[in-house]
Amino acid sequence: QQKVAFSGQPKRAHRSIRNLVAVASGKGGVGKSTSTVNLALALQAEGARVGILDADIYGPSIPIMLGNSQEHPTSSDNKHMQPLEAHGLVANSIGYLVSKDDAAIWRGPMASRALQQLLNETLWPELDYLLIDLPPGTGDIQLTLAQQIPVSGAVVVTTPQNIALADAQKAIAMFNKVNVPVLGVLENMSYHQCEKCGHKEYLFARDGGEHISSHNQVPLLGHIPLDIHIREYTDSGKALITERPDSPLSQAYGAAARQL
Ligand code: ADP
Repeated sequence: QQKVAFSGQPKRAHRSIRNLVAVASGKGGVGKSTSTVNLALALQAEGARVGILDADIYGPSIPIMLGNSQEHPTSSDNKHMQPLEAHGLVANSIGYLVSKDDAAIWRGPMASRALQQLLNETLWPELDYLLIDLPPGTGDIQLTLAQQIPVSGAVVVTTPQNIALADAQKAIAMFNKVNVPVLGVLENMSYHQCEKCGHKEYLFARDGGEHISSHNQVPLLGHIPLDIHIREYTDSGKALITERPDSPLSQAYGAAARQL
């Protein structure tokens, strides 16, 4: 049985989905999509049924990270799509439907229509969680998405670096503005630990996650190190958490997932 940690009801209940959770970042490249995939796998390892909606219309990376970028959703009525399956997760992404170059030139309204379709015209099975990988940033598109999609909460991914934190703060402010509860901050690329000597190098500074979460009174979901295995598994579309459930990395994602 999955617990539901937040108190508010979704703005508009989506039939088969219990929790719609947005994964956001103020800045690109901080590991938002990587975190989405690993949190989804970690939630699944806890026994939840989980899907991913890749809303990063301009840079969809979920298909590559799930290792099925050559596949396409099927439709029996030309209106609804069957989501794709990988590692026990279901997913849909603009990346399965159009070429990257096509979507990259869409204007805001077209991008937000595409997203509505991905959410509403995908035949999502019964899910405990649908994680929505939002585009980075806090512009008009993100604001519209946060308002249009009945999300029940948001996770904000950041590195501990000042420049990323400043943007993460804007993302938190955006969710506050549209009354979406921030479920927590996930600090990614917190440090790198040398495999040979065990020394931890804090490449992007330290304690940024603590500061931003305490400043906003939201939970710090964890510290995820900069680790070659995370990069290798996601690059090759493999599931770190399923294949190496006992590794410290899997456990760190598991601890984060249990707070959602
Ligand atoms: P975003 O979605 O924020 O743009 P991505 O998830 O695409 O960021 O990550 C950017 C790059 O950093 C990718 O190449 C990814 O493999 C790598 N990456 C992300 N998080 C980690 C990590 N904790 N350790 C190693 N590499 C990471």
